[in-house]
Amino acid sequence: MVKRRDFLAGGAAFFGALPMRLCAEEGDNPLLRFGIVTDCHYADIASAGTRYYRESDGKLAECVAAMNAERADFLIELGDFKDQGDTAETTLGYLRDIEQVYAGFNGPRYHVLGNHDMDRISKAQFQSVIKNTGIAPERTYYSFDNQGFHFVVLDANYLADGTNYDSGNFDWTKAYVPQHELTWLAQDLATAAPRPVVVFIHQLLDADEGPVYVRNAAAVRAVLEACGRVRAVFQGHHHSGSYRKLGGIHYYTLKAVIEGSGAENSAYALVSAYADGRLSVNGFRRAESRELAGLPACTAGITGCSRAITVDTRTAMQRYMAQGTGVDTRTVSACRSRPATVDTLRHFGTILGLS
Ligand SMILES: [Zn+2]
Repeated sequence: MVKRRDFLAGGAAFFGALPMRLCAEEGDNPLLRFGIVTDCHYADIASAGTRYYRESDGKLAECVAAMNAERADFLIELGDFKDQGDTAETTLGYLRDIEQVYAGFNGPRYHVLGNHDMDRISKAQFQSVIKNTGIAPERTYYSFDNQGFHFVVLDANYLADGTNYDSGNFDWTKAYVPQHELTWLAQDLATAAPRPVVVFIHQLLDADEGPVYVRNAAAVRAVLEACGRVRAVFQGHHHSGSYRKLGGIHYYTLKAVIEGSGAENSAYALVSAYADGRLSVNGFRRAESRELAGLPACTAGITGCSRAITVDTRTAMQRYMAQGTGVDTRTVSACRSRPATVDTLRHFGTILGLS
């Protein structure tokens, strides 16, 4: 069996000889595999502290080459893709450079917005340079399907009043998922039934107090938990990484690319999804490997997402402002059961090995 370290040491000449599924065992083929990478903070500027901005394009190039060699079904970066120069124009130049490296991946690629992505430019400027495969350019939160799974990308880069982060007009410790996005999320999860769900976000959702957590994380978790089909949330932002399981959902925070000098101080991972409900995170370089256990997709699909729930989609500030004014908690029908469709049956057939 080829060890990852050996494979990386083998260099480019080795890539062409790789089998289709490097980690597949007989009878244990993953249903799909995707790559994750985060916090590149790329900029052509001098290093500061533990952050080596100029090295991030090389580190990302290694990640892209490895994911191409692995034939990953898609690749997603979890935010803070670039850092900032003195002007918007130089900053956009850094973004174009790192996007060009990222575009070397031979498959669908996606972006999650991080706070630094709007440090010197607007969301619209960021979106005008990057490409999310098959997604409208203006969409900063969106979803897509791959191999019978549903993937959701969230954007927490909003002020408490729902205003977009724009050219540094924000305090990075105050991130919110606004009400319009929570409403969209509940509807999107319901429409995607019975597919199992994986969520991507930059700022963290697995606690409520602390600078790296989304301020209204509890409201987001309520929607995710009510669905019953959300397997895992992959996050960036907190550069040292972390893991927690909460309300039946795995929260895996990937370590940052930017931290430390040299190829060995990078981090990215290949996530494999199996029919038994397991997500296997295979960490490269400093990224942590971890098995995320779960229910089989067919079981989760039948039992999950069949009840209406009450979700308070307001932010803490909005709740505070509404005290004594008689404003009711908003009721959202987050999850509706749907009759099995041809597509659904095909999906179950795939899991049961019928196709
Ligand atoms: Zn960061």
